[in-house]
Amino acid sequence: MTRWDPRAVIAAKRDGGTLAPEQIERFVLAYARGELGDGPAAAFLMAALLNGLDDGETLAMTEAMIASGETVAFGDLGRPSVDKHSTGGVADGVTLVFAPLTAALGLAVAKLSGRGLGHTGGTLDKLEAIPGFRTDLSPAEIAQQVRAVGCAVAAQSPALVPADGALYALRDATATVESIPLIAASVMSKKLAVATDLILLDVKAGSGAFMRTPDEARSLASACLALARGAERPAAAAVTDMSQPLGDAVGNALDIAETVAILRGEQRGRLRELAVWFTARAVERLEGGSFEDALARAGAALDDGSALDRFRRMVQAQGGDPRVVDDPVGVLPRAPVVVPLLADRAGIVSAVATDRIGVASGALGAGRLRKGDPIDPAVGIVMRPKIGDRVEVGETLGEVHARTDEDADEAIIDALAALMLVEHEVEPPPLVHDWLPG
Ligand code: URA
Repeated sequence: MTRWDPRAVIAAKRDGGTLAPEQIERFVLAYARGELGDGPAAAFLMAALLNGLDDGETLAMTEAMIASGETVAFGDLGRPSVDKHSTGGVADGVTLVFAPLTAALGLAVAKLSGRGLGHTGGTLDKLEAIPGFRTDLSPAEIAQQVRAVGCAVAAQSPALVPADGALYALRDATATVESIPLIAASVMSKKLAVATDLILLDVKAGSGAFMRTPDEARSLASACLALARGAERPAAAAVTDMSQPLGDAVGNALDIAETVAILRGEQRGRLRELAVWFTARAVERLEGGSFEDALARAGAALDDGSALDRFRRMVQAQGGDPRVVDDPVGVLPRAPVVVPLLADRAGIVSAVATDRIGVASGALGAGRLRKGDPIDPAVGIVMRPKIGDRVEVGETLGEVHARTDEDADEAIIDALAALMLVEHEVEPPPLVHDWLPG
């Protein structure tokens, strides 16, 4: 028997060829099983990023990633189930609010999330900032928790889509994230591996997203929806604004503190609004009734504490300290240096270099430089002004949470430089650019 040579696959993609599904499957599975090193896999990813993957190759990659592990089925949950996924952003805590909120409204939420990728934050890294919180749930544990609590947010693991876990970390470390087929395969492998009744996709567009324009984001949404259709799974996508941080907190523990404030009904703004919007879409699609009624029900569940209670139960079920909902400051890790972010100029915020804020938070330690690097859960940036807001010189715009004064000084320079200020009124961007009901 001739020996399999992975270099043939890399060379074919490098030279612009189209790979057969078996070639992709073999390559992806070999990497997931540790039979292939990071070098060849990174070369393949870069060739795929530069030369693209067609629909057939993207489907083969998605299917191979699913086949690298087990899948999760729920049987009869007695209520409809939904999964929602973001393609990545800055201060994007939608899932952290959506999961308990949607569960509080009577739907089941089961979700495989990701870690920080490039300049974007990761839901798993954020949740793991809660002392004791486990994301490495087995397929059986996910199903059991969804049944008992109504929601579970877990990681890829050796049992679940391990190929995405491995390739995701390698893409983060090798500048091979910004590719529509690679993102679509990564997102949809995680969604198709868990048998929910509906998949909702939050495809981000703007300076903090991998897709810089709504048109690019629409292409990514279409690629993801095509994979869902191929698998005969109901799905819908929204193209949403990521031209500025969605919430205020760009870190890990800081994001959890913001989530708790929203779940306690204490914080309004775009992050709450988008989480409520996605919850209402899930309710509308799975239970019928009007979208407006669903919006009102979701808002009420944030204000009456029922979503907060679900979050507490989810944290407890996954081994985390449930007191985080009562005393986030006391329970979450805290950085030794907290410095106010003071405006160095006056004007109206017209644009935000959102990726720069994500990179600055990563440089404080909230993100990874190399594959497998540990992250610092305590550090990050809080930045409150949004596009259209006026800021005055010396006004406190937020804070930097850092390990050292030097780190804080650098982050302050970057965070302030990320704000474009003008003298005229500026219309805030729409929160949702487009809704693709699938
Ligand atoms: N989210 C994912 O799960 N994968 C990507 O590649 C990007 C965002």
